[in-house]
Amino acid sequence: MTGRNVSANDVAGPGSAGLRRVRRPALTDAGGLLGEGVGLVFTSRAGGVSPAPFDSLNLAFHTGDDPANVTANRALVAEAIDAPPMDFVYLEQVHGAKVARVSGAEQHGSGAGDALPACDGAFTTVPGLVLSVLTADCVPVAVSYPSGGAVAVVHAGWRGTIADIVAVALRKIREEMGLDPADARAVMGPAIAACCYEVDEGRAGLFVERYGRRDGVVTGRGDRFLDLPRANTLNMLEAGVREENILRVGGCTCCDGGYFSYRREGSTGRQGTFICIRHIRR
Ligand SMILES: [Zn+2]
Repeated sequence: MTGRNVSANDVAGPGSAGLRRVRRPALTDAGGLLGEGVGLVFTSRAGGVSPAPFDSLNLAFHTGDDPANVTANRALVAEAIDAPPMDFVYLEQVHGAKVARVSGAEQHGSGAGDALPACDGAFTTVPGLVLSVLTADCVPVAVSYPSGGAVAVVHAGWRGTIADIVAVALRKIREEMGLDPADARAVMGPAIAACCYEVDEGRAGLFVERYGRRDGVVTGRGDRFLDLPRANTLNMLEAGVREENILRVGGCTCCDGGYFSYRREGSTGRQGTFICIRHIRR
């Protein structure tokens, strides 16, 4: 990743018969929030080639979209952030709490179809590897250790949040790398917010049990609305991350039609969160 700002602009010429007009992916470049030498981008639904209901930058194969479109969209993202598709690592996300360490070339994603099996988080110390999670309401959390040369990303839906997957990642990095959560910085990306995330009594009860009623996780009419970003913030604070180092970008995916939202649409695409340690360019 070069860190340059990438905006939506046409890459195809004036439309002519047989040519599909393609807009470059609109990316939010948030690398500056995670410290020097870290690349972090969030995609939206804009700038890809998929038709409705996956329009247009759907990055997930399991959605029912034509795989050729997903492959094309992943290639567009790779091009836009100036990283080879082979350096991307995708995860087979299963709403669990397993975090994988990605350390070698054999774990590179192909950018076209491979994914690390059954995990919802990953970390690496290898420059140039691009770790990703794909979401459509769940909370993507990107983590860096500016002094220690490690980055991580996790996918935290309600199950991952209750299972404290972000703390699992922080603990694993401390055990394997000796890096202190107090030195970590975290950025949460676009996710469904409490305004839209109404759940049934059973699920709300799980969150009351875990977080109590005081901290704003369970909120709204009838105590049926969950604030997952808030819950993940509390998880990180408990794990030792400093409050000033926890940031959030992007709004509510369900309110903002610029994002894919499973809650709003059901059958839809997935946006991506991508993090890497940048190669030093000389
Ligand atoms: Zn909302």
